[in-house]
Amino acid sequence: MKAQTIYFARPIQAANAEQWSIAGIEALFKLPFADLLYRAQQTHREHFDPNEVQLSTLLSIKTGGCSEDCGYCPQSAFHSAGVEDRKMLDVAAVVQAAKAAQQAGADRFCMGAAWREPSAEDMQSVVEMVKAVRNLGMETCATLGMLREEHVTQLRAAGLDYYNHNLDTAPEFYGEIISTRDYQDRLDTLERVRRAGINVCSGGIVGMGESLTQRAGLIAQLANMQPYPESVPINNLVKVEGTPLENAEELDPLDFVRTIAVARITMPRARVRLSAGRQQMSDAVQALCFLAGANSIFYGEQLLTTGNPEVERDRTLLDKLGMYPFAEKH
Ligand code: SF4
Repeated sequence: MKAQTIYFARPIQAANAEQWSIAGIEALFKLPFADLLYRAQQTHREHFDPNEVQLSTLLSIKTGGCSEDCGYCPQSAFHSAGVEDRKMLDVAAVVQAAKAAQQAGADRFCMGAAWREPSAEDMQSVVEMVKAVRNLGMETCATLGMLREEHVTQLRAAGLDYYNHNLDTAPEFYGEIISTRDYQDRLDTLERVRRAGINVCSGGIVGMGESLTQRAGLIAQLANMQPYPESVPINNLVKVEGTPLENAEELDPLDFVRTIAVARITMPRARVRLSAGRQQMSDAVQALCFLAGANSIFYGEQLLTTGNPEVERDRTLLDKLGMYPFAEKH
């Protein structure tokens, strides 16, 4: 592994030529499994080394007590999921965690805070964190809630490579999951991020009780952005006790694989990331996800508050599959 190498984000993508209808995406979901995976794999190989995977490590820089009511999230102040509120970490602690992630092979470090939106004071610390992590030679990503114009300007000036803001689900299902903001708020923040010249990381969560049409609707929203996000995390709901979705019906793992494949086909040049829910997945399902075009994972034992596979397990799986981390190849 090469330390101290700088992997800055690739240039922002050109606008996508293809616009997808929800019906067209639903038709992809309904293809015979082998046909869907074949098509996804063909698309994947046109744009990426199929054996390479990008590793992102996520750190919660401020945990719990969030004033939003996202039904899946243990950090919401509306739910009683037993997450301990923690004030913002200091810059030194964040840099230490980033160095450890880099040593373990991660090339992107994502800093997440449980806020509806950051305050001016919060932003001062975040800007320092972004600069410090970038100085290590890692790509930087942040997820801080909604952003105003002044926030994106500050983050851009600090050199932030990616901003994560998930659409979560289709507009038609959004109100079932969150009531403290609306879909347009999400789109507005993403638009500001895009206009500021920061790469967009945006995806969603499946397994929240959405219909197939609504799952297709989420992918349509993402794929029809002009341009679509550079990074697309696809999360499988982690059902946390004390959240409104703790008893959601389990998604068939093959439907999760199908979602990855459809994201790959409709957003051919995006990094499609296997995100939350991977800890509960067998190696075989993860292998199918890679075959379906996933080429990024969250790496490290902890996501924001839920678990993730151990680094050793991931290394073993990648070895078994003959796959290698992006940072070790470049
Ligand atoms: S997902 Fe984010 S915005 Fe929603 S409650 Fe959790 S921390 Fe807050």
